[in-house]
Amino acid sequence: MGRPLRELKVLCRMGRRKSRVKPAPRKRMAKLDTVFRCPFCNHESSVECRIDKKNKIGEASCRICEEKFSMIINALTEPIDIYSEWIDECERVNKNAEDDDA
Ligand SMILES: [Zn+2]
Repeated sequence: MGRPLRELKVLCRMGRRKSRVKPAPRKRMAKLDTVFRCPFCNHESSVECRIDKKNKIGEASCRICEEKFSMIINALTEPIDIYSEWIDECERVNKNAEDDDA
C-alpha cells in the first residue's frame, strides 16, 4: 500500500520544483547603437550618427578627426545603416586608390 503514496510525493515534489523555476530575467538588448568607431582615426565611439527625417538626410561624423559622411535615407534607415554605408564608401575609395596604383 506504500507505493501509491510514494508516487504522489514524487509528483508533488516535481510540481513544486516546476513552479519554482522562473525564467531568468533577461537583460534587454542595449538600445540601437548610434555611436561607432571611426574608420579614419580609429577612435572607439567617436562617430555619431544623426538622422534628419524631415530632410531625409543621414549624417555620420567623427568628433575626433571631424570626418563626415552624409547620405539620403528613408523611413527605415537606422544609424547603423548610415555607418555601414560610410564604411562601404571608405572601402570603395580604398579600392579605387589601389587600382590607381596598379
Ligand atoms: Zn575620426
